[in-house]
Amino acid sequence: MKWPADYHMHTPLCRHATGEPGDYAARSVAIGLTEIGFSDHSPMPRDDFDNWRMYANQLDEYVAQVHQAQKDYPNLTIRLALEVDYLPGYEDWIRGLAARHPWDYFIGSVHYVSDSWVIDNPEKISEWKKRDAFEVWSAYFERLTKAAETGFFEIIGHVDLPKKFGHHPPTDCASLYEKFLNAAKKHNCAIELNTAGLRKDCREIYPSRQILELAFQKGVPITFGSDAHAPGEVGMNFAEAIRLARGIGYRESCRFAQRKRRMVEF
Ligand SMILES: [Zn+2]
Ligand SMILES: [Zn+2]
Repeated sequence: MKWPADYHMHTPLCRHATGEPGDYAARSVAIGLTEIGFSDHSPMPRDDFDNWRMYANQLDEYVAQVHQAQKDYPNLTIRLALEVDYLPGYEDWIRGLAARHPWDYFIGSVHYVSDSWVIDNPEKISEWKKRDAFEVWSAYFERLTKAAETGFFEIIGHVDLPKKFGHHPPTDCASLYEKFLNAAKKHNCAIELNTAGLRKDCREIYPSRQILELAFQKGVPITFGSDAHAPGEVGMNFAEAIRLARGIGYRESCRFAQRKRRMVEF
């Protein structure tokens, strides 16, 4: 089996990950990966926006650390990326980030369904009690669709993140998925198979089989990501993700260099 690239991993600069980039690279080599990408949480214009991302003035340091890992591990292809939060109104900020460094790709993620509620934050889990699950999923997918439409992102991250703690709307969300995937297709966004879901309450890869089947039908390509926040999580459960993708019909996943896509078999 040919391992796909692990395109989703963090560094301690985001304040909730452990292990230096070199440790992630060493782990990648040890488990037989040939390509990875660092995609740490993007900074925000205000450093007090929240407490789980690098400060704005650490962006250059982040890039330097990834470049150092590239030098230290010449036999491993290491891509330079960011996991960028998409919130409406931050388009200029994201454009500015894109212009600052020669990124290989951007993962666009929605964690905020409002200016203050981070749906995947355990500290805010009580918010779910105040809201109707379908309403939350609708608001989330509306933002995700907008994220795809900006054209800023090569990859859309953990597509059905609202399921993290096991909250599922009683009604079918197919129409929300359809709308999002049509936008992803139109704007050349891949979606990732993010294995971190298997380590959360939902015990399921992001996205669900239902979404992935729809994506395959529409010709939306995929990437793979462990969303590692520690070196030991690199490439975690990739065999299961590959089984899921192949079972649906996928044979290739995307690789990115300087924001250009090519397809590679896995
Ligand atoms: Zn994320
Ligand atoms: Zn992440």
